[in-house]
Amino acid sequence: MPYRAPVTDITFCLDHIVGFDRVQAASRFEDATSDVVQAILTEAGRICEEVLAPLNRAGDLHPARLENGVVRTSPGFAEGYRAIAEAGFVAISADPAHGGLGLPHTVTTAVNEMMGAACLSLELNPLMTQGQIEALEHHATDAIKDLYLPRLVSGDWCGTMNLTEPQAGSDVGALTTRAVPNGDGTYAVTGQKIYISWGDNDFAGNIVHLVLARLPDAPGGTKGISLFLVPKKIPDAQGNPGMANTLKVVSLEHKMGLHGSPTCVMQYDGAQGWLIGEENKGMAAMFTMMNNARLGVGVQGVSVAEAAYQHALAYALDRKQGRTEGPTGSIVDHADVRRMLIEMKAEIFAARALSLDLAVAIDLAKAGDAEAQARAAFLTPIAKAYGTEVGMKVADRGIQIHGGMGFIEETGAAQFARDVRVTAIYEGTNGIQAMDLVGRKLMDGGAAAFALLDEIEAAASGDDLGAMLTPVVAALRETTQDMLARDMADRFGGAVPFLMAFARVLGAQYHAKAAVTGDAARVSLAQYHLTRLLPEAHAMMAQARCGSGGLYDLSPDDLAA
Ligand SMILES: Cc1cc2nc3c(=O)[nH]c(=O)nc-3n(C[C@H](O)[C@H](O)[C@H](O)COP(=O)(O)OP(=O)(O)OC[C@H]3O[C@@H](n4cnc5c(N)ncnc54)[C@H](O)[C@@H]3O)c2cc1C
Repeated sequence: MPYRAPVTDITFCLDHIVGFDRVQAASRFEDATSDVVQAILTEAGRICEEVLAPLNRAGDLHPARLENGVVRTSPGFAEGYRAIAEAGFVAISADPAHGGLGLPHTVTTAVNEMMGAACLSLELNPLMTQGQIEALEHHATDAIKDLYLPRLVSGDWCGTMNLTEPQAGSDVGALTTRAVPNGDGTYAVTGQKIYISWGDNDFAGNIVHLVLARLPDAPGGTKGISLFLVPKKIPDAQGNPGMANTLKVVSLEHKMGLHGSPTCVMQYDGAQGWLIGEENKGMAAMFTMMNNARLGVGVQGVSVAEAAYQHALAYALDRKQGRTEGPTGSIVDHADVRRMLIEMKAEIFAARALSLDLAVAIDLAKAGDAEAQARAAFLTPIAKAYGTEVGMKVADRGIQIHGGMGFIEETGAAQFARDVRVTAIYEGTNGIQAMDLVGRKLMDGGAAAFALLDEIEAAASGDDLGAMLTPVVAALRETTQDMLARDMADRFGGAVPFLMAFARVLGAQYHAKAAVTGDAARVSLAQYHLTRLLPEAHAMMAQARCGSGGLYDLSPDDLAA
């Protein structure tokens, strides 16, 4: 079934759930009128449906290839990328000083959701460039900004993010790539990076790599990491792509999914690089890009969930099997198929609302609201992990609804599950996100967490659905206090269920807000979420309160026995 862009649902979330009008009221975003935003979402929806969605299967069947050191992208990807760049979707939120539209990140987030649903492999490319633009806007010198930003913003050049090395994955501090001063203000970068998304392509005029590396005598761990901009082609005096830099793509990974996105092993051999930000402060600079990308990857989960849901629903409406009492005579009338479909729809709504809620907090923070800054920081790991878990769960249910046909590649149901799987792994695994939540994000003594719970509690009062939410919020408050009382190792043992409990409660709050509009279908969906999914939060909290208890009772030998 062709993808149908959910512009109406996204607009509903903006208008009724996440308070986007507060962003529009900020003078910084005065151009983001409802007419402008609607026009962008509608045009994005059209491009995603008509141009990008038809590429999704081609990317899966004809993966990117490495030919004579150059990446050849999947059929149609170059044209698809051109459509994205020409529509300005790489730089919706970039600074107008360099050609961006200066619109809220919330608009970017909504457009990214639709691009990712249409073709996840291709969307990962502009997602990387968007993050790089933000990192350069914050941390680069004016000379670098003037040279690189207009070309990245226009989409003529593409950006990548190079952290991972064979021995340095989750533990970025273990990286060994070196950067030695050349004596002319530039640096010679040497080392190997693995898993670099879109490390090369055949449609950009230049590829700009942001590379984490160590200066000579830098301290160990993350305190000794600096960030370098390393272009594939060194710009000449006019800013055009010039001499080839000493870097190359060594190979492409063979992956279970996301075949249209070239995942590169990169070799840097004394490649000329420029320092971004301060020496040994590379992690802080890279975090600008990574925070952006964490929301972006959470949204990728929502994207694939929406596409997989639409696909499964179309099949369920068509497939006849067994006697049904319902109106369609197809499997959609069976109770268990209904259960799966409604659960998918309820999860997608919650995950979409969460991603847009976070995007609004990011925009309000940019507009100077300090509380919104803390809220955004707290929501980031939840949105990343929950969005991607929803992506995996919904794609998996989508296969189940297809029955045997779900296991047969031709239907396309399996591609969603294969493609989305990596979203729970890259950009910091979901386990690492949960550790960030109970570690760094509770370092304020729980202030951001309790502020969020206060807000949910205040919004929950009043109707029946709100009354169902109130005791769960109280239990989550106690669980948060319990978490704060534990030492870090103990917190980590309960981190993932704690994060998921928070996501459940946030999701219930969004559904309760949707029900307030009185729309019958939204009320039914909210009732489903609050009666069937929200109670899972209690089991998650029980697990969170176990901390690391029992996790080390079995020895490695016991595990192997
Ligand atoms: C398709 C793809 C694209 C990617 N794109 C990029 C990219 O563009 N740029 C880039 O730099 N990287 C990229 N990556 C790398 C990705 O970010 C890493 O794979 C990821 O961070 C995990 O690192 P790892 O693979 O070394 O796993 P490991 O770090 O070895 O983790 C293995 C397991 O151990 C757990 N674990 C590890 N450390 C801890 C800990 N301290 N506490 C608890 N659990 C822990 C993890 O959660 C995981 O379950 C990509 C990866 C893939 C597969």
